Amino acid sequence: MANRRINLCLARMCGEEQKYIQEAFDTNWVAPLGPNVDAFEALLERYEGCGKHIAALSSGTAALHLGLVMMGVERGDEVICQSWTFAASANPVVYQGATPVFVDSEEDTWNISPQLLETAVRDRIRITGRKPKAIVAVHQYGMPARMDEIMEIAARYEIPVLEDAAEALGSRYDGQICGTFGDYGVLSFNGNKMITTSGGGALVCPTAEAKQRTLFYATQAREPVPYYQHEVIGYNYRLSNICAGIGRGQMSVLDEHVEHHRRLAKLYAGLLAGVDGISMHMNPSERFDSNYWLSTIIIDSAVTGTDSEHIRRHLESCNIESRRLWKPMHMQPVYKDAPRYVDGVSERLAPAGLCLPSGPCVSEEDVHRIVNEIVRCVKR
Ligand SMILES: *Cc1c(COP(=O)(O)O)cnc(C)c1O
Repeated sequence: MANRRINLCLARMCGEEQKYIQEAFDTNWVAPLGPNVDAFEALLERYEGCGKHIAALSSGTAALHLGLVMMGVERGDEVICQSWTFAASANPVVYQGATPVFVDSEEDTWNISPQLLETAVRDRIRITGRKPKAIVAVHQYGMPARMDEIMEIAARYEIPVLEDAAEALGSRYDGQICGTFGDYGVLSFNGNKMITTSGGGALVCPTAEAKQRTLFYATQAREPVPYYQHEVIGYNYRLSNICAGIGRGQMSVLDEHVEHHRRLAKLYAGLLAGVDGISMHMNPSERFDSNYWLSTIIIDSAVTGTDSEHIRRHLESCNIESRRLWKPMHMQPVYKDAPRYVDGVSERLAPAGLCLPSGPCVSEEDVHRIVNEIVRCVKR
């Protein structure tokens, strides 16, 4: 059908999910924890490798929050956070009563600039007399951040890194899988991410002890005594055995999904290569291996005579969903008073860009149809 709806990034089930959910029902193991949770965590640990220990949680946002808890972030602390990202990267800093300090992105990766990061660290130490408590780095749209330089700066100032890989399951930097660079890493299995558990997330932990402590916080922080004893504040953040069943099934198609996203990105790039004023966001060099969670373009309105919002509306009128890029956190009303170290990169790029349909439900024919409509806007 010529005018079939094309969505940005819908989940696709592989068929195995039902089997694991049925198992949970058959064994009356619907409640939190159980064999699906254990098996899903084991599959994730094998996938991420590097000897990491993974705690399955109710969302990526919960994982970010517990990551900060594990790093000891408290009221009055400052946490450096990549400004150009989805709000969930930053909000948990405020849950902890800490202050986010926003740092701008580099032009090529769209992720936290190592130069500005170091400037920010030094300046915060100068102004507050204390080191920032943590650094939140994000792999935006699946594109790896420049992790070697970020980790080098973090190590030099002895500040732990929380790596937000919610959009980057399957991405690699220098051959190493994203989510495994930081002291802690965050994965998301929300409905529109690389794989889904309907809703869910995970914290990639450095040791078995850190995972145990994370799970302690995720299950109301009950002390291991036969009565209900609480010595710290806990949360209800564990993934359910039903959701983990979906995740088990999804792990069998993860590689396929990553390949599909990459194939679509290459196709978009090829088809748009000859269109003046439109550029695809691609791996800056061989060291970067994005999963291309969402294929994104930047529109130069001086050259094309159109802009991201016009193209978005035109695509919508053709029953094609696209989406504007994240609006940087330092430009959000809710963060208007937060300290920031910005140099104009995200303010310039964010309004000029658009995310194009990229999920496993998007076909190569769909990509041709989408590019044709974009080209029509440019020529109009
Ligand atoms: C989706 C997302 C999150 C949050 O994950 P949820 O599972 O939706 O809570 C965090 N950070 C980034 C960059 C995301 O895209």
